[in-house]
Amino acid sequence: MYDPKSSKAEEFISDSEIKATLAFADEHKNDRAMLEDILAKAREQKGLSHREALILLDCSHEDINEKIFSLAKEIKQRFYGNRIVMFAPLYLSNYCVNGCIYCPYHMKNTTIPRRKLSQEEIKAEVIALQDMGHKRLALEAGEHPTMNPIEYILESIKTIYSIKHKNGEIRRVNVNIAATTVENYRKLKDAGIGTYILFQETYNKENYEELHPTGPKHDYAWHTEAMDRAMEGGIDDVGCGVLYGLTTYRYDFVGQLMHAEHLEARFGVGPHTISVPRIRPADDIDASTFSNAISDEVFEKLVAVLRIAVPYTGIIVSTRESEKARERVLAVGVTQISGGSRTSVGGYTTEERCDDTAQFDVSDQRSLDEVINWLLKLGYIPSFCTACYREGRTGDRFMSLLKSGQIANCCQPNALMTLQEYLEDYASSDTKAAGEKVISEELNRVPNDKVRSIAAERIEKIKSGARDFRF
Ligand code: SF4
Ligand code: SF4
Repeated sequence: MYDPKSSKAEEFISDSEIKATLAFADEHKNDRAMLEDILAKAREQKGLSHREALILLDCSHEDINEKIFSLAKEIKQRFYGNRIVMFAPLYLSNYCVNGCIYCPYHMKNTTIPRRKLSQEEIKAEVIALQDMGHKRLALEAGEHPTMNPIEYILESIKTIYSIKHKNGEIRRVNVNIAATTVENYRKLKDAGIGTYILFQETYNKENYEELHPTGPKHDYAWHTEAMDRAMEGGIDDVGCGVLYGLTTYRYDFVGQLMHAEHLEARFGVGPHTISVPRIRPADDIDASTFSNAISDEVFEKLVAVLRIAVPYTGIIVSTRESEKARERVLAVGVTQISGGSRTSVGGYTTEERCDDTAQFDVSDQRSLDEVINWLLKLGYIPSFCTACYREGRTGDRFMSLLKSGQIANCCQPNALMTLQEYLEDYASSDTKAAGEKVISEELNRVPNDKVRSIAAERIEKIKSGARDFRF
């Protein structure tokens, strides 16, 4: 029944194929000849199948694992350089009709205050985010047909794009809302969203149904086929993710890659991003009751093998993770992180409410400037770039540029120019000094001579007050 091209969830995420893959990896995970063959294929930097990837993930030979980590770093360097794209979540509403047992917004939780932002409150939150330096947001809202209908989400997107405060503006709004209809996805596309994000939580249907006992999200097929409907509605940048710790990570890792293979097979373009959240404590949620938690070591390896298996897909890690855990996964594959995040409704403007309505505890509590400073000192280029979606480089257009390596002539100068904007408008003096140093070193790594010299001119213009250049 396994068919990556099928439009039916249970055929493109086939339980029997996943189980066969787990058994195959059990048998071959330390088969040196097979591991070397898989590594040879991985060195072509075109990705791996779910079976090949799981064998690498399961392998326990230390020397092979070193090769895996070193290849992950090489692939990351080739496609993404030292750049790390920055974003922040913006929680609009925690009203929700679903019963997800790992999330404090579940309908039966009566201890959490319910809150939904008005357009005026959204404006205040966005100004606070702009004043931190953010240019890219991920909108978050619970599923509630009357409190958070699609009209509310669309109006909120319009409000966010309309706010220009000092030199600030939000240039890309990604949206993380519940699975919806093709018609609603079309409306989101028309509203100018960047990526549509929806976490699968787990690909294991049986566990999925137990973890989502009530509400529309209980329907596994409706949820799992959401990305297909988003693509049918014209959204060609979609972001996937599972919540590691809910069920066994090997099953979900394979399911995640099968989902990516399915989107590639059916629509010619895989996911734009994959997020790798791990379960965290929150109001009325005790994360220790989830016995499948993965260690930092497994987490790091999982990110490294993902980097190798889907070289063209951005990997996102949030402030759920500690500074230390984030540093480890940045080195082996992560390309996008949040900074200065508040995971509560109204959290950027009402400090004292922050914990009351939080969806999960934030582990990395540093300010955006502290995160930027830390990244710079680790040798990364924090990037506030949003150019591709604004230049119409989405879906297969984006993927072909990335696959050819040509994207480096856009990403590198855009990262440096947007970093310069951040340094001028928002950085502390220490961050500014560290950033200037990184910019002068990294400018030399723009591959094309002409692009490099235009970027250098534009950086000077930004210092004199100009803004919003892009390649
Ligand atoms: Fe609602 Fe999403 Fe939380 Fe589930 S995970 S309860 S759908 S907000
Ligand atoms: Fe992302 Fe495109 Fe900017 Fe590169 S140029 S960082 S791919 S938006």
